[in-house]
Amino acid sequence: MNIDDKEQSRIYTKSNRRAFLSTLGAVGLTLYASNTRSSELLAQQITAGQSNRSPEDSWTVTLSAPDGPHPPFVSNSRRLLSPPELLDAPDEWIDRSLQWIDYILRTYPPGLVELPPRRPALFRLDEVLHIESAPRKPLVQNFYQQRLQRAIEEIEQTKVSEGMRIWRLYNHGVLIRTPSTSYTIDFVPGIGTEGFALSNEWLKRLVAQSDAHFISHWHPDHANPDVARLFMQERKPVVAPERLFPEDSDLSSYLIVPKRDLHTVHTIPIRGGAGRLEVVTYPGHQGPPVLCNVTLVRTVEGFAVLHTGDQSGDEGEGTDFDWLAQIGHYQQVDVLLTNGWTNDLHRIVRGVNPCLVIPGHQNEMTHAAPHREEYTQDYERMFGLHYPFIVMAWGENYHYMKPAELKGVLPDED
Ligand SMILES: [Zn+2]
Ligand SMILES: [Zn+2]
Repeated sequence: MNIDDKEQSRIYTKSNRRAFLSTLGAVGLTLYASNTRSSELLAQQITAGQSNRSPEDSWTVTLSAPDGPHPPFVSNSRRLLSPPELLDAPDEWIDRSLQWIDYILRTYPPGLVELPPRRPALFRLDEVLHIESAPRKPLVQNFYQQRLQRAIEEIEQTKVSEGMRIWRLYNHGVLIRTPSTSYTIDFVPGIGTEGFALSNEWLKRLVAQSDAHFISHWHPDHANPDVARLFMQERKPVVAPERLFPEDSDLSSYLIVPKRDLHTVHTIPIRGGAGRLEVVTYPGHQGPPVLCNVTLVRTVEGFAVLHTGDQSGDEGEGTDFDWLAQIGHYQQVDVLLTNGWTNDLHRIVRGVNPCLVIPGHQNEMTHAAPHREEYTQDYERMFGLHYPFIVMAWGENYHYMKPAELKGVLPDED
Protein backbone atom coordinates (compact mmCIF):
# COMPACT_ATOMS: atom_id res chain seq x y z
CA MET A 1 0.00 0.00 0.00
CA ASN A 2 1.32 3.40 -0.88
CA ILE A 3 0.25 6.18 1.46
CA ASP A 4 0.93 9.71 0.35
CA ASP A 5 2.10 12.44 2.69
CA LYS A 6 -1.33 13.89 3.17
CA GLU A 7 -2.70 10.53 4.15
CA GLN A 8 0.19 9.98 6.53
CA SER A 9 -0.42 13.32 8.19
CA ARG A 10 -4.07 12.52 8.50
CA ILE A 11 -3.64 9.15 10.11
CA TYR A 12 -1.53 10.57 12.91
CA THR A 13 -4.07 13.10 14.14
CA LYS A 14 -5.89 12.40 17.34
CA SER A 15 -9.27 12.77 15.73
CA ASN A 16 -8.50 9.87 13.46
CA ARG A 17 -7.24 7.32 15.90
CA ARG A 18 -9.46 4.62 14.46
CA ALA A 19 -8.03 5.14 10.97
CA PHE A 20 -4.57 5.28 12.50
CA LEU A 21 -5.01 1.98 14.32
CA SER A 22 -6.56 0.20 11.37
CA THR A 23 -3.75 1.42 9.16
CA LEU A 24 -1.21 0.17 11.69
CA GLY A 25 -2.83 -3.22 11.54
CA ALA A 26 -2.86 -3.25 7.75
CA VAL A 27 0.54 -1.90 6.85
CA GLY A 28 2.48 -1.33 10.04
CA LEU A 29 3.70 1.95 11.35
CA THR A 30 4.74 4.10 8.41
CA LEU A 31 6.41 7.23 9.64
CA TYR A 32 5.62 10.56 8.13
CA ALA A 33 8.71 11.80 6.30
CA SER A 34 8.84 15.55 6.48
CA ASN A 35 10.07 17.40 3.43
CA THR A 36 9.18 20.69 1.85
CA ARG A 37 5.99 19.50 0.28
CA SER A 38 4.77 17.55 3.31
CA SER A 39 5.72 20.40 5.64
CA GLU A 40 3.50 22.67 3.61
CA LEU A 41 0.70 20.16 3.90
CA LEU A 42 1.26 19.99 7.60
CA ALA A 43 1.26 23.78 7.91
CA GLN A 44 -1.99 23.91 5.96
CA GLN A 45 -3.43 21.26 8.22
CA ILE A 46 -2.49 23.23 11.33
CA THR A 47 -3.65 26.61 10.08
CA ALA A 48 -6.83 25.27 8.53
CA GLY A 49 -8.19 26.20 11.92
CA GLN A 50 -10.85 23.70 12.82
CA SER A 51 -12.11 25.45 15.92
CA ASN A 52 -12.54 22.31 18.06
CA ARG A 53 -8.93 21.22 17.61
CA SER A 54 -6.56 20.82 20.51
CA PRO A 55 -2.80 21.33 20.13
CA GLU A 56 -2.42 17.56 20.46
CA ASP A 57 -4.06 17.13 17.07
CA SER A 58 -1.07 18.71 15.35
CA TRP A 59 1.61 16.58 17.02
CA THR A 60 3.15 14.54 14.26
CA VAL A 61 5.97 12.04 14.13
CA THR A 62 8.46 13.34 11.59
CA LEU A 63 11.40 11.51 10.14
CA SER A 64 13.76 14.26 9.05
CA ALA A 65 14.29 17.99 9.43
CA PRO A 66 12.56 20.33 9.94
CA ASP A 67 11.17 19.70 13.38
CA GLY A 68 7.36 19.59 13.51
CA PRO A 69 4.80 20.53 16.16
CA HIS A 70 5.44 18.55 19.32
CA PRO A 71 4.58 18.67 23.02
CA PRO A 72 7.02 20.16 25.54
CA PHE A 73 7.72 16.75 27.07
CA VAL A 74 9.72 15.64 24.03
CA SER A 75 12.62 17.53 22.45
CA ASN A 76 11.72 16.99 18.83
CA SER A 77 8.80 15.77 16.75
CA ARG A 78 10.82 12.81 15.49
CA ARG A 79 11.03 11.49 19.05
CA LEU A 80 7.34 11.66 19.86
CA LEU A 81 7.17 7.86 20.19
CA SER A 82 10.43 7.48 22.14
CA PRO A 83 10.91 8.07 25.88
CA PRO A 84 12.25 11.61 26.38
CA GLU A 85 15.99 11.94 26.86
CA LEU A 86 17.75 13.41 29.87
CA LEU A 87 20.04 16.39 29.64
CA ASP A 88 22.33 14.64 32.09
CA ALA A 89 22.24 11.71 34.50
CA PRO A 90 24.20 10.52 37.55
CA ASP A 91 27.27 8.43 36.79
CA GLU A 92 25.94 5.75 39.11
CA TRP A 93 22.86 5.26 36.88
CA ILE A 94 24.93 5.32 33.68
CA ASP A 95 27.52 2.89 35.06
CA ARG A 96 25.01 0.36 36.39
CA SER A 97 22.92 0.66 33.21
CA LEU A 98 25.85 0.02 30.88
CA GLN A 99 27.09 -2.92 32.92
CA TRP A 100 23.59 -4.43 32.88
CA ILE A 101 23.19 -3.80 29.14
CA ASP A 102 26.52 -5.46 28.42
CA TYR A 103 25.54 -8.47 30.54
CA ILE A 104 22.15 -8.83 28.83
CA LEU A 105 23.56 -8.49 25.31
CA ARG A 106 26.29 -11.05 26.00
CA THR A 107 23.87 -13.49 27.63
CA TYR A 108 21.03 -13.10 25.12
CA PRO A 109 22.62 -12.72 21.68
CA PRO A 110 20.72 -11.53 18.61
CA GLY A 111 18.66 -14.09 16.74
CA LEU A 112 15.73 -14.54 14.39
CA VAL A 113 13.57 -15.12 17.45
CA GLU A 114 14.32 -12.16 19.68
CA LEU A 115 14.88 -13.09 23.30
CA PRO A 116 12.74 -10.91 25.62
CA PRO A 117 15.49 -9.30 27.73
CA ARG A 118 17.13 -7.73 24.67
CA ARG A 119 14.61 -5.03 23.99
CA PRO A 120 14.67 -3.42 27.45
CA ALA A 121 18.48 -3.45 27.27
CA LEU A 122 18.52 -1.77 23.86
CA PHE A 123 15.96 0.79 25.02
CA ARG A 124 18.02 1.58 28.12
CA LEU A 125 21.06 1.95 25.86
CA ASP A 126 19.07 4.49 23.82
CA GLU A 127 18.38 6.43 27.00
CA VAL A 128 22.04 6.52 28.04
CA LEU A 129 23.26 7.42 24.55
CA HIS A 130 20.71 10.21 24.25
CA ILE A 131 22.18 12.16 27.11
CA GLU A 132 23.46 15.20 25.25
CA SER A 133 26.96 14.86 26.71
CA ALA A 134 27.15 11.05 26.32
CA PRO A 135 29.96 11.12 23.69
CA ARG A 136 32.21 12.92 26.18
CA LYS A 137 31.48 10.66 29.14
CA PRO A 138 34.33 8.23 29.97
CA LEU A 139 31.76 5.59 31.05
CA VAL A 140 30.17 5.66 27.58
CA GLN A 141 33.54 5.74 25.83
CA ASN A 142 34.73 2.70 27.85
CA PHE A 143 31.53 0.83 27.06
CA TYR A 144 32.03 1.42 23.32
CA GLN A 145 35.74 0.60 23.41
CA GLN A 146 35.30 -2.57 25.41
CA ARG A 147 32.49 -3.88 23.21
CA LEU A 148 34.42 -3.16 19.99
CA GLN A 149 37.70 -4.54 21.33
CA ARG A 150 35.95 -7.72 22.40
CA ALA A 151 34.37 -7.98 18.94
CA ILE A 152 37.76 -7.58 17.23
CA GLU A 153 39.19 -10.34 19.43
CA GLU A 154 36.24 -12.55 18.51
CA ILE A 155 36.76 -11.80 14.81
CA GLU A 156 40.41 -12.80 15.16
CA GLN A 157 39.40 -16.10 16.71
CA THR A 158 36.34 -16.98 14.61
CA LYS A 159 36.53 -19.21 11.57
CA VAL A 160 33.32 -19.49 9.58
CA SER A 161 32.85 -22.93 8.04
CA GLU A 162 29.27 -22.43 6.82
CA GLY A 163 26.83 -19.56 6.45
CA MET A 164 27.81 -15.93 6.94
CA ARG A 165 28.65 -14.12 10.15
CA ILE A 166 27.89 -10.42 10.47
CA TRP A 167 29.48 -8.20 13.12
CA ARG A 168 27.96 -4.82 13.88
CA LEU A 169 30.72 -2.26 14.35
CA TYR A 170 30.22 1.46 15.02
CA ASN A 171 27.14 3.14 13.49
CA HIS A 172 26.44 1.55 10.07
CA GLY A 173 29.73 -0.36 9.93
CA VAL A 174 29.92 -4.14 9.55
CA LEU A 175 32.40 -6.93 9.07
CA ILE A 176 31.02 -9.83 7.03
CA ARG A 177 32.71 -13.23 7.06
CA THR A 178 31.96 -16.32 4.97
CA PRO A 179 34.11 -19.43 4.54
CA SER A 180 35.88 -17.81 1.57
CA THR A 181 36.29 -14.18 2.58
CA SER A 182 35.82 -11.29 4.98
CA TYR A 183 35.03 -7.70 4.08
CA THR A 184 34.03 -4.49 5.80
CA ILE A 185 31.56 -1.77 4.86
CA ASP A 186 31.53 1.75 6.34
CA PHE A 187 33.88 0.78 9.14
CA VAL A 188 35.09 3.85 11.04
CA PRO A 189 36.95 4.10 14.38
CA GLY A 190 34.12 5.90 16.18
CA ILE A 191 33.89 9.68 16.48
CA GLY A 192 36.49 12.40 16.83
CA THR A 193 35.60 13.29 20.44
CA GLU A 194 38.73 12.70 22.49
CA GLY A 195 38.72 9.27 24.15
CA PHE A 196 35.98 7.79 21.99
CA ALA A 197 37.57 6.32 18.87
CA LEU A 198 39.43 3.03 18.60
CA SER A 199 43.20 3.39 18.65
CA ASN A 200 45.33 2.78 15.57
CA GLU A 201 46.44 -0.56 17.02
CA TRP A 202 42.85 -1.82 17.18
CA LEU A 203 42.14 -0.46 13.69
CA LYS A 204 45.14 -2.36 12.36
CA ARG A 205 43.94 -5.57 13.98
CA LEU A 206 40.53 -5.21 12.36
CA VAL A 207 41.93 -4.28 8.95
CA ALA A 208 44.12 -7.41 9.15
CA GLN A 209 40.89 -9.43 9.36
CA SER A 210 39.21 -7.90 6.29
CA ASP A 211 40.04 -8.66 2.64
CA ALA A 212 38.31 -5.60 1.16
CA HIS A 213 36.67 -2.38 2.31
CA PHE A 214 33.62 -0.55 0.94
CA ILE A 215 32.74 3.09 1.67
CA SER A 216 29.20 4.22 0.89
CA HIS A 217 29.83 8.00 0.89
CA TRP A 218 32.14 10.70 2.18
CA HIS A 219 30.44 11.59 5.50
CA PRO A 220 32.84 10.92 8.40
CA ASP A 221 30.49 8.48 10.12
CA HIS A 222 31.04 6.23 7.04
CA ALA A 223 34.41 7.17 5.57
CA ASN A 224 37.69 7.46 7.46
CA PRO A 225 41.06 8.16 5.84
CA ASP A 226 43.06 6.37 8.56
CA VAL A 227 41.10 3.18 7.96
CA ALA A 228 41.38 3.51 4.17
CA ARG A 229 45.14 4.10 4.47
CA LEU A 230 45.60 0.95 6.54
CA PHE A 231 43.85 -1.04 3.79
CA MET A 232 46.07 0.64 1.20
CA GLN A 233 49.20 -0.27 3.17
CA GLU A 234 48.09 -3.91 3.08
CA ARG A 235 47.36 -3.65 -0.68
CA LYS A 236 43.70 -4.51 -0.07
CA PRO A 237 40.94 -2.98 -2.22
CA VAL A 238 39.00 0.06 -1.01
CA VAL A 239 35.86 0.77 -3.02
CA ALA A 240 34.26 4.23 -2.92
CA PRO A 241 31.63 6.25 -4.81
CA GLU A 242 34.06 8.97 -5.92
CA ARG A 243 37.65 10.15 -5.33
CA LEU A 244 37.35 10.68 -1.58
CA PHE A 245 40.12 12.16 0.57
CA PRO A 246 41.35 14.63 -2.11
CA GLU A 247 43.84 16.11 0.37
CA ASP A 248 45.62 12.70 0.34
CA SER A 249 46.39 12.31 -3.35
CA ASP A 250 48.05 8.88 -3.05
CA LEU A 251 45.13 7.54 -1.02
CA SER A 252 42.54 9.16 -3.25
CA SER A 253 44.05 7.70 -6.40
CA TYR A 254 44.32 4.25 -4.76
CA LEU A 255 40.52 3.99 -4.35
CA ILE A 256 38.51 1.80 -6.70
CA VAL A 257 35.61 3.86 -8.05
CA PRO A 258 33.32 1.46 -9.93
CA LYS A 259 30.74 2.65 -12.40
CA ARG A 260 27.52 3.34 -10.52
CA ASP A 261 25.14 1.33 -12.62
CA LEU A 262 22.12 -0.91 -12.05
CA HIS A 263 23.24 -3.95 -14.02
CA THR A 264 27.04 -3.91 -14.18
CA VAL A 265 28.56 -6.67 -12.07
CA HIS A 266 32.10 -5.70 -11.07
CA THR A 267 34.60 -8.34 -10.05
CA ILE A 268 36.87 -7.16 -7.24
CA PRO A 269 39.94 -9.38 -6.81
CA ILE A 270 40.88 -10.06 -3.18
CA ARG A 271 43.66 -11.90 -1.36
CA GLY A 272 46.13 -10.94 -4.05
CA GLY A 273 43.96 -12.44 -6.76
CA ALA A 274 43.31 -15.72 -4.93
CA GLY A 275 39.66 -14.78 -4.39
CA ARG A 276 37.03 -12.39 -5.66
CA LEU A 277 33.85 -10.54 -4.78
CA GLU A 278 31.06 -9.72 -7.19
CA VAL A 279 29.78 -6.20 -6.68
CA VAL A 280 26.92 -4.13 -8.04
CA THR A 281 27.22 -0.42 -7.25
CA TYR A 282 23.76 1.12 -7.31
CA PRO A 283 23.72 4.90 -7.93
CA GLY A 284 22.22 6.02 -4.63
CA HIS A 285 22.11 9.40 -2.91
CA GLN A 286 21.70 10.99 0.48
CA GLY A 287 19.45 13.77 -0.63
CA PRO A 288 20.29 15.03 -4.12
CA PRO A 289 23.86 16.33 -3.55
CA VAL A 290 25.64 13.41 -1.86
CA LEU A 291 26.61 10.38 -3.94
CA CYS A 292 25.94 7.31 -1.81
CA ASN A 293 26.73 3.85 -3.13
CA VAL A 294 24.07 1.29 -2.41
CA THR A 295 26.36 -1.71 -2.64
CA LEU A 296 25.52 -5.33 -3.33
CA VAL A 297 28.36 -7.71 -2.50
CA ARG A 298 28.16 -11.39 -3.40
CA THR A 299 30.75 -13.92 -2.26
CA VAL A 300 31.72 -17.02 -4.23
CA GLU A 301 29.42 -19.10 -1.98
CA GLY A 302 26.52 -16.95 -3.20
CA PHE A 303 25.89 -14.92 -0.05
CA ALA A 304 24.60 -11.50 -1.13
CA VAL A 305 24.47 -8.47 1.14
CA LEU A 306 22.99 -5.10 0.19
CA HIS A 307 24.23 -2.11 2.21
CA THR A 308 22.40 1.20 1.71
CA GLY A 309 24.76 3.67 3.36
CA ASP A 310 22.70 6.79 4.11
CA GLN A 311 20.36 6.29 1.15
CA SER A 312 17.46 8.72 1.49
CA GLY A 313 15.63 11.16 -0.71
CA ASP A 314 12.59 11.81 -2.83
CA GLU A 315 10.21 8.99 -3.58
CA GLY A 316 8.43 10.01 -6.76
CA GLU A 317 8.96 8.99 -10.37
CA GLY A 318 12.44 9.53 -11.74
CA THR A 319 14.08 9.18 -8.32
CA ASP A 320 16.21 6.43 -6.80
CA PHE A 321 13.03 4.62 -5.84
CA ASP A 322 12.64 3.63 -9.50
CA TRP A 323 15.41 1.07 -9.00
CA LEU A 324 15.43 0.71 -5.20
CA ALA A 325 11.95 -0.73 -5.38
CA GLN A 326 13.02 -3.34 -7.95
CA ILE A 327 16.38 -4.67 -6.77
CA GLY A 328 14.80 -7.92 -5.64
CA HIS A 329 13.54 -8.50 -9.18
CA TYR A 330 17.12 -8.78 -10.44
CA GLN A 331 19.08 -9.95 -7.41
CA GLN A 332 18.53 -12.48 -4.69
CA VAL A 333 19.56 -10.65 -1.54
CA ASP A 334 20.28 -12.54 1.66
CA VAL A 335 20.70 -9.64 4.07
CA LEU A 336 19.66 -6.01 3.70
CA LEU A 337 21.76 -3.70 5.87
CA THR A 338 19.69 -0.53 5.73
CA ASN A 339 19.92 2.77 7.54
CA GLY A 340 16.91 2.42 9.82
CA TRP A 341 15.77 5.99 9.21
CA THR A 342 15.74 5.91 5.41
CA ASN A 343 12.50 7.21 3.97
CA ASP A 344 9.79 4.68 3.12
CA LEU A 345 11.75 1.85 4.63
CA HIS A 346 8.91 -0.60 4.01
CA ARG A 347 8.92 0.14 0.28
CA ILE A 348 12.67 -0.40 0.09
CA VAL A 349 12.48 -3.68 1.99
CA ARG A 350 9.69 -5.00 -0.21
CA GLY A 351 11.65 -3.92 -3.29
CA VAL A 352 14.85 -5.60 -2.17
CA ASN A 353 12.94 -8.64 -0.88
CA PRO A 354 15.76 -9.90 1.35
CA CYS A 355 15.77 -12.97 3.58
CA LEU A 356 16.72 -10.81 6.56
CA VAL A 357 16.83 -7.11 7.43
CA ILE A 358 19.39 -5.67 9.84
CA PRO A 359 18.81 -1.95 10.40
CA GLY A 360 21.86 0.14 11.24
CA HIS A 361 23.02 3.69 11.87
CA GLN A 362 21.62 3.87 15.38
CA ASN A 363 22.90 6.26 18.01
CA GLU A 364 25.39 8.11 15.82
CA MET A 365 27.07 10.14 18.51
CA THR A 366 28.13 13.19 16.49
CA HIS A 367 24.48 14.10 15.98
CA ALA A 368 22.59 16.25 18.46
CA ALA A 369 20.55 14.02 20.78
CA PRO A 370 17.21 14.35 18.91
CA HIS A 371 18.92 13.16 15.72
CA ARG A 372 20.72 10.15 17.17
CA GLU A 373 18.34 7.68 15.57
CA GLU A 374 17.76 4.94 18.10
CA TYR A 375 16.85 1.28 18.56
CA THR A 376 13.41 2.27 19.85
CA GLN A 377 12.67 3.96 16.52
CA ASP A 378 13.90 0.90 14.63
CA TYR A 379 11.23 -1.25 16.27
CA GLU A 380 8.57 1.34 15.49
CA ARG A 381 9.67 1.63 11.88
CA MET A 382 9.88 -2.14 11.40
CA PHE A 383 6.41 -2.71 12.83
CA GLY A 384 4.14 -4.46 10.35
CA LEU A 385 7.03 -5.44 8.10
CA HIS A 386 6.55 -9.01 6.91
CA TYR A 387 10.25 -9.75 6.89
CA PRO A 388 12.47 -11.08 9.66
CA PHE A 389 14.68 -8.39 11.15
CA ILE A 390 17.34 -8.25 13.81
CA VAL A 391 18.41 -5.20 15.78
CA MET A 392 22.05 -5.36 16.83
CA ALA A 393 24.16 -3.24 19.18
CA TRP A 394 27.82 -2.21 18.92
CA GLY A 395 30.08 -5.27 18.72
CA GLU A 396 27.32 -7.89 18.40
CA ASN A 397 27.30 -10.53 15.70
CA TYR A 398 24.80 -12.83 14.03
CA HIS A 399 25.43 -16.06 12.16
CA TYR A 400 23.23 -16.04 9.07
CA MET A 401 22.18 -19.26 7.33
CA LYS A 402 20.26 -19.51 4.06
CA PRO A 403 16.55 -20.10 4.75
CA ALA A 404 16.78 -23.64 3.30
CA GLU A 405 19.35 -24.43 5.97
CA LEU A 406 16.98 -23.26 8.69
CA LYS A 407 14.34 -25.93 8.09
CA GLY A 408 13.16 -27.19 11.46
CA VAL A 409 14.80 -24.28 13.30
CA LEU A 410 11.95 -21.84 12.71
CA PRO A 411 8.23 -22.49 13.07
CA ASP A 412 6.50 -23.03 9.71
CA GLU A 413 4.78 -19.99 8.24
CA ASP A 414 1.01 -20.10 8.24
ZN1 LIG B 1 25.64 10.58 5.34
ZN1 LIG C 1 25.48 8.57 8.24
